[in-house]
Amino acid sequence: MEDKIIVYVAGNPNSYPMEYYDSQTKTYKGVIPQILKEFSDKSQYEVIYYEGGVIDKREHLAKNKQVDIVSGFSNSDEIYENTQKEEVFNAVINNNNVSYYICYTDTAPEGLKYELNKFLSSVTQEEISGLLISSAENIDYSASNNLTVYALSFIIIVLFCAVVLTAQRCKKKLKSARILIETDELTGLGNLEYLTNRFQHIVNNKTKVLYKVVFFYVDTDRLHRIGNSQEVDAFFKFCAQAVKKHVSDNDILARVSYSGFALLKYHNSNEDLNSWLNLIFNEIHSYRKVYQKNFDLSVSAGIYKIKAGDINIKEIVFNSLQCARMAQKNDEMYLICTDEILDSFAEKRQLQANIEQAFLRNEFQLYIQFYVEPDTYKIVGGEALSRWNHPQKGIIKPDVFVPLMEGERNISKLDYYSLNKTCMFLESLLENNVDTFFMSCNFSRDTFSADNFADECKKIIDRYSFPKELLIFEITESTYEKNIPQIQSNVLELKKYGVRIALDDFGEGFTSFYDLQKYKIDGIKLDKGLIDNMFSKSGGEILKAMIRVGHNLGMTILAEGVETVQQVEKLKIMECDVIQGFHFFVPMPDWKAKEQILKDFHTDN
Ligand code: C2E
Ligand code: CA
Ligand code: CA
Repeated sequence: MEDKIIVYVAGNPNSYPMEYYDSQTKTYKGVIPQILKEFSDKSQYEVIYYEGGVIDKREHLAKNKQVDIVSGFSNSDEIYENTQKEEVFNAVINNNNVSYYICYTDTAPEGLKYELNKFLSSVTQEEISGLLISSAENIDYSASNNLTVYALSFIIIVLFCAVVLTAQRCKKKLKSARILIETDELTGLGNLEYLTNRFQHIVNNKTKVLYKVVFFYVDTDRLHRIGNSQEVDAFFKFCAQAVKKHVSDNDILARVSYSGFALLKYHNSNEDLNSWLNLIFNEIHSYRKVYQKNFDLSVSAGIYKIKAGDINIKEIVFNSLQCARMAQKNDEMYLICTDEILDSFAEKRQLQANIEQAFLRNEFQLYIQFYVEPDTYKIVGGEALSRWNHPQKGIIKPDVFVPLMEGERNISKLDYYSLNKTCMFLESLLENNVDTFFMSCNFSRDTFSADNFADECKKIIDRYSFPKELLIFEITESTYEKNIPQIQSNVLELKKYGVRIALDDFGEGFTSFYDLQKYKIDGIKLDKGLIDNMFSKSGGEILKAMIRVGHNLGMTILAEGVETVQQVEKLKIMECDVIQGFHFFVPMPDWKAKEQILKDFHTDN
């Protein structure tokens, strides 16, 4: 290591807490010695205090050129000859600017002044205030006996002012940091943190029952399908303003999550909730007209009236959000949270908490619902449908747990688990010489749109040996709209690998045959809605046309949700290839399905 250049300082023994001589430890202490020590640690200079003692020898040392730096001046002090003063510290005391200085003598090595000044200017006022406070904490009272009354009082003022200064700065800083933490960047409204803090300020145990939380929920999935992110952002800003217009000064509005706003609202005995919400919703929906956007907006509200026992505002907001989502699902403008609804949320949460364990305990089971051939009613294949065999609640259907898993983003685990069980089932049939029974599997859009989807599936399927064309992957229209290029590449890769692809719930949405052809879909499953409607004039014509076009494009046509013999007869005439529905079979456990298949296939062949 390079040798350090030694620099000597003549210190002020009586300038506590800036600089003072501690006779017990026989060293200089205070803010300036600490700063100089830090400078020594970080630079090529080693700063050493020359001779200590309670008597001030600075003038003598400076004149004798025994030191390079003379320290511990305030602006009222006289500066010695041949010294150059540099400000170290500055504070406003009783409206007067008080500065502390150090001076360089002409023996100071070249470069020292530049280096030390640079270092001093990098020391912030806050750091100095911090040092002042720590000096005060470390005060050695025996040493302070030497201080004059003037110095003492002055020091106390300096210390006090430094603390006030720091406190003010910190307060300002804290305030601006708090504003930042509590603000939603996009809309400028408060966020969940803000709502929580305001709730704690304005609501107490007695008044809380006078408030409710209204959650405005925007279906962002749907928005993202129709607009780019700038358009979505613009819509949220518009929404914020629309709601704000109808909020009173005493109410607290915040954007508490990406997809929604929560309003902490004081009950008004005269209020007509319905008309008030109508006003807000009309305002929000005017976005389309004002900005000439063809958005299919879906906004709903959930209302939670705060109860005496409620303590957690985040839980209240969560319940109001759940309620708003429920309203959206039921196609209602708003929903008021009742005890029954709350119980159902609690049950869902409990189920959600059980999911991980359910996988470990193999509680998910493969059920199979057969497909039949319309002319002969012979079983030709089956659809894999999951069931949760819950130890307390019994068999739970997928419409309960699939949305929970989708919300928690662990649906892919179930999908791969079901695919594995399906492959195992096909292999076990092959071992029993059944080699034509095909199986279809359902996948959520999160699973299907993942970039490793095809690879993960291949890894699973490769563990088994059965003809790959016996496996059909069902995708739904909503799968189809998200991350289109990735889905397209997954479909193509899986087709190249040898499995087939079918579009589930066809006719429910707006997928065109043109799209199906583009995606090289092998088959379509006509949605139950189309089947239910087949005896109306237009319903029958539409179905007939769909089957014809599908056939012309070389696709297999399956019909689902078939419940009556009349429907079967008509589908037969329309030349539908495969039928599935409660008229023939309900979903059954895999072991039972296997028994039935083995019986049927071995009797026929
Ligand atoms: P889906 O794929 O549209 O499956 C058809 C649903 O309709 C099944 O309900 C089936 O039991 C029911 N169904 C069949 N025939 C009839 C009928 O004639 N009448 C009536 N009313 N209903 C009929 P299920 O088993 O409750 O499944 C519901 C949905 O859950 C399925 O809809 C499927 O999308 C999803 N699902 C099931 N298992 C899984 C899975 O492992 N992963 C994923 N991602 N989704 C799954
Ligand atoms: Ca399906
Ligand atoms: Ca379906």
